[in-house]
Amino acid sequence: MRLTLIALAALLAAGTAAADYPDKPVTLIVPFAAGGPTDKVARDLAEALRKPLGATVIVENVGGVGGTLGANKVAKAAPDGYTLLLHHIGIASATALYRTLPYKTLEDFEYLGLVNEVPMTLIGRPSLPASNYAELAKWLESNKGNINLAHAGVGSASHLCGLLYQSAIKIDMTTVPYKGTAPAMNDLLGGQVDIMCDQTTNTTGQIEAGKVKAYAVMSSKRLPSGPLAKLPTADESGLKGFNLAVWHGMYAPKGTPKAVIDKVNTALRAALKDADFHKRQEALGAVIISDARLAPAEHKKFVEAEINKLTPVIKAAGIYAD
Ligand code: ASP
Repeated sequence: MRLTLIALAALLAAGTAAADYPDKPVTLIVPFAAGGPTDKVARDLAEALRKPLGATVIVENVGGVGGTLGANKVAKAAPDGYTLLLHHIGIASATALYRTLPYKTLEDFEYLGLVNEVPMTLIGRPSLPASNYAELAKWLESNKGNINLAHAGVGSASHLCGLLYQSAIKIDMTTVPYKGTAPAMNDLLGGQVDIMCDQTTNTTGQIEAGKVKAYAVMSSKRLPSGPLAKLPTADESGLKGFNLAVWHGMYAPKGTPKAVIDKVNTALRAALKDADFHKRQEALGAVIISDARLAPAEHKKFVEAEINKLTPVIKAAGIYAD
C-alpha cells in the first residue's frame, strides 16, 4: 500500500512537471564539434524552436567517437525533456558499424521527429592538383598509399561516406578522425589532409569562396538550385548508384513523459515552418522534412529502416568497427 502511494506521488509529480514543461532552458546536445554542419543545423533550429517551445534552447557540443559520446550522454540523461539530442544519419550508421555501443539506439531514446535532409559533397584541399572529378580519379590512382581522408570519427557521416567511397573506387586511404568536420575542414584548408566528404551545410560557403576543391555531390540528385547546382553527382562521374545523404532528427532519453514529447514535436513542427529557418537551411542545400513525415513514430520507423539498409551495405564494403 505504502509503495503504491509513493509510486502514485512520483507519477503525479512527473505529471505536474510535464504540464509545466519547459520552465527553464533546454539543452540540445550536438554530438560533433562547434562550427560544423550538424552544429549549424542545431543552432538554426535552436533559434527557431525558442518561440514555439517557450524556452531558450542552448546548444552543447559533445564531440568524439563519431557522435556516440554525445548520443550516450543523452541516453543516460534525466528523462525530463531538458536534455535533448540533435543527431544525423550517424545514429543509424554507428549502430550498423559498431559491434557494441554504450546505448541501444532503438530502445534508449524517445524519437521526437525528423528535421531535414542534407546532401554530402566530396571536397579536396585547395592545393590538390585536380580541378574536377576525372582529374581527382587520376590523382588518387597515382598517389595510392599516400592519401589522407579526413572524417568526424568512426560512425560519423563523413566516415561512412569516405569508407563507401574507398570501397567504390577500390583505393585504400589513411583515414584521419576529428571530433567533427569543423576541425577537419580547418586541416583540409591548411593542406594537412587531402580529401573529405561533408554536408553542404558546411561546404557550400567554402566551395563558393573557392577555398576548397569540389568534386561531386554524393547523393543521387544534383542540388536543384544555388551555388552547387552545377556540381555533378558521384553517379554521373562514374560511380554508378553511389547515393549517400544525411538526415537529422531530434531525440530525448527513454522515459521522457508523453506530454513533453508531444510538446517538443509540436514545437518542432512549428520551427520547421519558420521562414528564417527555411531560408537559412535552403541556402545551405538542406531540404526540410514535410509535415506528413514528422510524427515521432514515423521517425523511429525511418531510423530502423536506415539501420536495416546500412547494415548489409557496411558489411558488403568490408567495414567494421569495435
Ligand atoms: N559532418 C560530420 C559528420 O561527418 C559531423 C559534424 O561535424 O557535424 O558526421
